Amino acid sequence: MPVQDIPFSSASFDRAGHLRKDKDYLKSARRAPETLVMLMKDGAPFVSGARSDRSFEPGEPLPAGERTLYWIGAQILDLVSEEDQLFLGLNSAGEPMFAVDVPDSLPLDAIKDGAFEDARAAASFMSPIEASMTATARSIFSWRDRHGFCANCGVRTRIAEAGWKRECPACNAEHFPRVDPVAIMLAVKGDKCLMGRQASWAPGFWSCLAGFIEPGETMEQGAARELFEEAGIKWNGKCEYLFC
Ligand SMILES: [Zn+2]
Repeated sequence: MPVQDIPFSSASFDRAGHLRKDKDYLKSARRAPETLVMLMKDGAPFVSGARSDRSFEPGEPLPAGERTLYWIGAQILDLVSEEDQLFLGLNSAGEPMFAVDVPDSLPLDAIKDGAFEDARAAASFMSPIEASMTATARSIFSWRDRHGFCANCGVRTRIAEAGWKRECPACNAEHFPRVDPVAIMLAVKGDKCLMGRQASWAPGFWSCLAGFIEPGETMEQGAARELFEEAGIKWNGKCEYLFC
């Protein structure tokens, strides 16, 4: 399966990890006119109803009215705490890219033509690289929300490395974003396949079954266990890898 067909991870961007600790660079990037910032709330990216003229890929032809990720200038970074910011990296022009988790206290009245939209739905019309950035920001902000206190001593943690690390001021423990391995499987029999959906999803949305791999499991064992847990199907047949 071509890598470019994998939603949310088909395009890579320059994460510029060496700049996350560079306080001088980050300070200037937070004020640079070329800096671009994407907006997120509860994991939902802000998308415009029409193509933004500050799109990440200015050369990409998009039809009029095409929806796309909305990018805003650096001035919004002055309005939110660093806890609500993530330095994503650099775009192909070397310009700084940030994501902001928009707090409730920050009104977005000035932006008329756009809305926060479910990330899965938005991935269907974003460019691959914007979908990748959306997935990155969503994952980091979610991790931040669930790791506000040190797992070692219980003290409140604080942001470090422009959002990519949390530190404990009491015991000096360093906390990094969790990455959980997942098996996503498509069970096939003859010319039929099995898919599922959550009741809360929009009409027409279906997904392969999937689940987290447990410690000590192989991907095949995890897929078989999840298939049984979610659909009651015992599988011991052939496994074909499409992407890993
Ligand atoms: Zn601690």
